Amino acid sequence: MQEALLTPYPFAQVALPVPMRTLFDYKIPKAMALRHRLMPGMRVKVPFGKSSRLGVIVSFSEQSQWDENNIKPITSLQDETAVIPNELMALCKWAARYYHHPIGDVIFHALPVLLRKGENAEFRTENWWFTTPEGQQKDLESLNKAPRQQDFLKAVQQHPNGMSQNAISSLSLSPGAGKALEEKGLLRREQRSFNKAGEKHTHQTQVPPVLNQEQRLATDHLLDMASSFGVALLDGVTGSGKTEVFLRVMEKLIEDGKQILVMVPEIGLTPQTLKRFESRLHTDIVLMHSHMSDRERLDAWLLSASGHAKVIIGTRSAAFIPAPNLGLIVIDEEHDASYKQHEGFRYHARDLAIKRAQSLNIPVLLASATPSFESLANALQKRFDWLRLRQRAGNAQIPKMERVDLRGQTLVNGFSQHALESMKQCLDRQEQVLVFLNRRGYAPTLMCHQCGWIASCDHCDVNLTVHKRANKLHCHHCDAQKALLHTCPECQSDELFTVGEGTEQIETQLTALFKEVPILRIDRDSTQRKSAMTQLTQKIHEHNQAILIGTQMLAKGHHFPNVTLVIVMDADAGLFSADFRGMERTAQLITQVAGRAGRSKKPGHVLLQTYHPDHAAIECLCNLGYEHFAIDGLAERKALSLPPFFHQVIVRAESGNEQEAMQLLAAMKNDLTPQFPEGLFSVGPYTAIIVRKAGQHRALLSIKSANRAPLHQITALMTNWLEQATRQHKIRFAIDVDPLETY
Ligand code: ADP
Ligand code: ZN
Ligand code: ZN
Repeated sequence: MQEALLTPYPFAQVALPVPMRTLFDYKIPKAMALRHRLMPGMRVKVPFGKSSRLGVIVSFSEQSQWDENNIKPITSLQDETAVIPNELMALCKWAARYYHHPIGDVIFHALPVLLRKGENAEFRTENWWFTTPEGQQKDLESLNKAPRQQDFLKAVQQHPNGMSQNAISSLSLSPGAGKALEEKGLLRREQRSFNKAGEKHTHQTQVPPVLNQEQRLATDHLLDMASSFGVALLDGVTGSGKTEVFLRVMEKLIEDGKQILVMVPEIGLTPQTLKRFESRLHTDIVLMHSHMSDRERLDAWLLSASGHAKVIIGTRSAAFIPAPNLGLIVIDEEHDASYKQHEGFRYHARDLAIKRAQSLNIPVLLASATPSFESLANALQKRFDWLRLRQRAGNAQIPKMERVDLRGQTLVNGFSQHALESMKQCLDRQEQVLVFLNRRGYAPTLMCHQCGWIASCDHCDVNLTVHKRANKLHCHHCDAQKALLHTCPECQSDELFTVGEGTEQIETQLTALFKEVPILRIDRDSTQRKSAMTQLTQKIHEHNQAILIGTQMLAKGHHFPNVTLVIVMDADAGLFSADFRGMERTAQLITQVAGRAGRSKKPGHVLLQTYHPDHAAIECLCNLGYEHFAIDGLAERKALSLPPFFHQVIVRAESGNEQEAMQLLAAMKNDLTPQFPEGLFSVGPYTAIIVRKAGQHRALLSIKSANRAPLHQITALMTNWLEQATRQHKIRFAIDVDPLETY
């Protein structure tokens, strides 16, 4: 009698991390089929070319479209359960189609790095400490002579469910003391799988505030929609208590045993946010972001995939985290551009999350004080439920915005007299000033007084930024760095001078002007070290008087209760951007920065320094606010057939050769234009604004259509065409569906 096969298929289709838009067929060895129930989403080792690769099973078949004699067998099976559950496999397949991206790359992107490298999808083990019955009774006084043992035992006595090594280490308890107590029979150790679940939540409980009426209506609405798919846009001015609203909804869902995914922007996750969540939700919360080690990310992934973690707070890539009881996805600061991946697999985490929620039939909550035009349009068209919070929570008032006309004024270090005086008054009141300048470094340009030479990047068409403190010239586009020059390489003059200001320069100058005042700079340079941001925010909370200087990092999510004055040094930056989203971005940024003012009891004031006080956008923002600005902006987009009313795909090509990228796209357009369906518009090919970046000359072609179907049809044709055409050449191309950058 024949043994029954646990896997009744002869072939598996396997995704591999290679840039080919196809799956690969492999034979399932009989021995494997007898012993294992293979499933889509499991990893396997397979031969590929001359080497061996890790792949993920996507499907099975009775037959192969290839010559069956040439199909190689799977070498080994890596998992006993799927690392990509069905739900996510479906999402990956959808994303590969929608973004016209190789399926293998999409699937591997969905996995944490260590799983891509073949690590087992298992919790690592960790030591846990428990008291023995004797140890639990032990009188601590009797250990007076061994204070370290006393501390150690005291800590473990307070945790009847045991303490992980991790928890022990975080209290800096002495390892030697632990051993000694173990030898005395007062403590015992156990190997347990690393799994934060079960550890006691020792965070202080925060008493929730009483919701105001707007918050209550929003919360009730969200609780009503909690069991099926729907998208709600929680559109609330800065400080209106949006977080408070979704904390309420989360509390309820956690009670029902659900998991919740909270997505946050790349640099928006502050330690304060985490603390607030922990002290309110009393449940297992894991983080998933780029500052964690690969192992920490895998641990978080496992905790979510096993259902232990109830709340997952993560950046973009967390959109793919498995969570078997997922009941809600929250996307905080939904307008943030960091949700879109700008390289390789160019997905948008918000759009992906909505798709995922739809197939899981669960709700999505988008929160922002400055919703993206896309989401606002969806709200206006009633595709999203629009929940608006128009008042600040508690006693806080909406800050007053004032334009400061810079024309003809004498500026001191880039500040108008009015701004300097306001700053002084604010500091005299023992309050804090936030100076916003979205340009890090000392100065954006280094120039020669004798011959006009300008320091520029060797690999990009941009000027190098001066970083005085690091004594470097730095390219902010390709990261190239060189030592700061003191003589001109063209004429040997030593009269080099800087033009323009960056945050580092403002810091130096304000330090000279306000000697007694703590001055804190927050930008990518000052927060490179892992704990730097925590330390900086701590300092801000310690002082009354302070000047904070920062880039957009400061605009996001922070709550500094004593900031009452915000100075936007250059409100005009981005006003005349070539990108049609330039104005939207500027308005969001200004509104978010302005929202840092007066978030507590004291009223806030915002000064916008501008050379264009009558510019319609600046005027509208100041007098009428973001929503008004956005609704006007949407009307303009509609009139100009721009997204979100038209859908867009951008094809990018880049090459080391000056002409090649343009020529490639022109040839493609020429070949495919006869097949363009009606209603499809193309613009280009055109060169990028910064034509050369990291040594690559860049060209783009934009395709637009009011309907998605023809756009996807033609994008598939373009992708095929480009794959064929670039096989011989060293030209890279990328398909960008729903691009956020069009240059
Ligand atoms: P947002 O997410 O809209 O920026 P938060 O939820 O962070 O707003 O709330 C801003 C501040 O107001 C926080 O300190 C929060 O604790 C407080 N807060 C929120 N809701 C209320 C309320 N109903 N009454 C009093 N204070 C509140
Ligand atoms: Zn010179
Ligand atoms: Zn460069």
